[in-house]
Amino acid sequence: MFMRWCVTAVMIGVGIFQIAHQAPAQINTPNYTQCGLKVSLERARSLSEWKPHISLYSQRHYGEKTWELQPQAIVLHYTAGASFPWNLVNSKDFAGEKPGLASHYVVDGAQIWEVLPPSVRSRATYGINHRAISIEMVAKDAADLAKRSATLKSATNLVHCLMQHYQLSEKKIYSHQAVARMNPQEVPEVKDLVDNHPYHKIDPGPANMQTILQGLLQRQ
Ligand SMILES: [Zn+2]
Repeated sequence: MFMRWCVTAVMIGVGIFQIAHQAPAQINTPNYTQCGLKVSLERARSLSEWKPHISLYSQRHYGEKTWELQPQAIVLHYTAGASFPWNLVNSKDFAGEKPGLASHYVVDGAQIWEVLPPSVRSRATYGINHRAISIEMVAKDAADLAKRSATLKSATNLVHCLMQHYQLSEKKIYSHQAVARMNPQEVPEVKDLVDNHPYHKIDPGPANMQTILQGLLQRQ
């Protein structure tokens, strides 16, 4: 009797351990509702198509054949356009290489779309797609974005939610411009096995970065 109870107890124990062990992978994305965010999945990429191509992209560019992302940084962008960037949802390739371009999020006013979950690698920030979440803010340029206070506010709230969930400090919130300098002394995560030369980007602009970082400080 004792033996039987004991075996059952061990089996229950193993079961609990398995559930506990599996749980982190299943809840490895932030709870947007708990953050007070409304995030739409209506413009999400098909993951079954995305994952095999981004795994191969990762192998070529970072020497890691995986689609999985464990976020260690967040990169901010503007879209260089006034309306929703459908290429981030629909493009099949870019610069002769699969997959197409895609960020994790697109922010426009009060609207936030999740194009890819933050547990999956995106292709939006050359040199750091293996480590970073990328957020695109809809705006034509830095001056246009500076006028879009609702977009900057939504982006700040989203960044705050992601920072809390992945335990990232403000030091890990980068501009695309900073990443594009491809300088490991400035952005330690930058790497590319195909071409690690600096490239030219000016988004989202120092003033907009300042606005968002200031907003984050006020939330603490
Ligand atoms: Zn950019």
